[in-house]
Amino acid sequence: MEILEIKGNTFCLDTGMTNIPFYKLDQRRIIMLDTGWAAGERSLLKDFLQQNSFTVAGIINSHAHIDHCGNNAYLKEHFGCPVAMPAAEATICESLLNLKLYYSAFSLKEIREHLGHMICHVDCPVTTDRESVEMGGAVFKILHTPGHSIAHVCITTPDDVAYVGDALISHGVMRGAKMPYACVLSEDLKSKEKLRGLVCSHYVLAHRGIYDNILELVEDNIEFYKLRAEKILALLVRPMTLQELAQETVANFHIGMGSVFKYNLIERMLRSYLEYLTETGRIALSVNDSVLRYTRL
Ligand SMILES: [Zn+2]
Repeated sequence: MEILEIKGNTFCLDTGMTNIPFYKLDQRRIIMLDTGWAAGERSLLKDFLQQNSFTVAGIINSHAHIDHCGNNAYLKEHFGCPVAMPAAEATICESLLNLKLYYSAFSLKEIREHLGHMICHVDCPVTTDRESVEMGGAVFKILHTPGHSIAHVCITTPDDVAYVGDALISHGVMRGAKMPYACVLSEDLKSKEKLRGLVCSHYVLAHRGIYDNILELVEDNIEFYKLRAEKILALLVRPMTLQELAQETVANFHIGMGSVFKYNLIERMLRSYLEYLTETGRIALSVNDSVLRYTRL
């Protein structure tokens, strides 16, 4: 665990797994931009807050994925702090049944066991017309970058430091990434293009890098995701069911798939690439003998 000074009152907690930026309102009160994993990062977060005598005065989430809002409920209960989050994702985090809206591939039992701690009331739902959020008297700019999740946002601190969350992945992550996730890949690619126009003094990526300029990184990200789609397309050497293609994909990409939960995750990731390939006219779906298959065009 390391605290990185970014600029002015903007800092970043490097947990070794993710970058969690925070903005110091004063010597004691901080606004956190995302809250990390519950499983891997809660004890690190507790130590960090205790050792620095910090009080969490507010949380602004980039999106509602388990590695970004995993400690929202815990911190809100402990500090009584307000939470801001993209409105659509705030709805998802409202209850177990609402989580099912997004995690539809999982049973309610799996959602309770694996994702139940994501449930947290959001005080400030950030609707798509909002361009800023005020938290603790500080104003944070919002750029809507849907695609990685349904309503992902990038957050810029008053020091002109942009937290781009998962809208981009670093070159290091790209080297190890097998099938990076995008909920709606076509929208995610549009959001990446939009980031060409986000001019700030520094950029923090959740996974995991800090950049002064992201123009090259944006282009590399777009190319990387498109190339992944091409690699999946190349596996479609004959009409295949989703399950057959999932088998081919995990074998070729060397992805472990040892549990029902993991299978559902992989299938969800694969689906978004297939939807993108369908939208761009590269594959077609057909039903023969009551079996749905994907065919390369
Ligand atoms: Zn994410």
